[in-house]
Amino acid sequence: MGCYGAEVPGYKASSFLINEDTLLDAGTVVSVLTVEEQLKIKNIIISHTHLDHIKDIQFLADNVIGKKDEPINLISTHGILDILRANILNNIIWPDFTTIPSQNGAVLKFLPVKGKEACSIGDITVIPVRVNHTVEATGYIIRAKNSAIVYTGDTGCTDWIWEVAAKEKKLKAVFAEVSFPNSMADLADRSGHLTAEGLKKELGKLGKQDIPVYVFHMKPQYLGIIEKEISLLNNKKIKVLKQGDVIEI
Ligand SMILES: [Zn+2]
Ligand SMILES: [Zn+2]
Repeated sequence: MGCYGAEVPGYKASSFLINEDTLLDAGTVVSVLTVEEQLKIKNIIISHTHLDHIKDIQFLADNVIGKKDEPINLISTHGILDILRANILNNIIWPDFTTIPSQNGAVLKFLPVKGKEACSIGDITVIPVRVNHTVEATGYIIRAKNSAIVYTGDTGCTDWIWEVAAKEKKLKAVFAEVSFPNSMADLADRSGHLTAEGLKKELGKLGKQDIPVYVFHMKPQYLGIIEKEISLLNNKKIKVLKQGDVIEI
């Protein structure tokens, strides 16, 4: 629904819809899904608490309140959910929708998962793996019956998620961030992001050349340069995502 690392007209912040009922990050939800579609959401898997990944949780909760029988699960590590509770759902920035309209009938529910432990939600299993960003951040291995994907979330150079992904037998796709052009590698490093050259090094750690790689989180103002630098990697398996892309795995 959004695959960019910032927002300008036509380019929305990162959020992916899996099987109609699960969101992977929630930077863009309510401006794309109808209210009917929003009511189908059961789970939101959160990579970290930067606004471009969480901002629509708040508006989604507001839109569906009183219309759902079950709460929407907010799935992430204890640390990340604690940041969300203390800084966003704190009755100051936004109402605490984990207690509204009632303690037992709230619209949102925290569902903490431990690093590297598998957690089943409906038809899929999520495994958080810590990545290297400026705040606590996690990527995910997401498994379905016959397939698995890896999602880096926002990360700079990191090792764990590639080690875990390399062992994933049914791995069918990688969703990896590239935020800045190669000329801004210093800023990418300092802000916990990747460039096209950085991605090439990271993919070397995965050691599987036949897996499709979908690139997201490009800063829209540098999109043209990033696309060119990705194409210069000369790897046909790497594709830069576009707004609205649908991928069957
Ligand atoms: Zn981001
Ligand atoms: Zn971030």
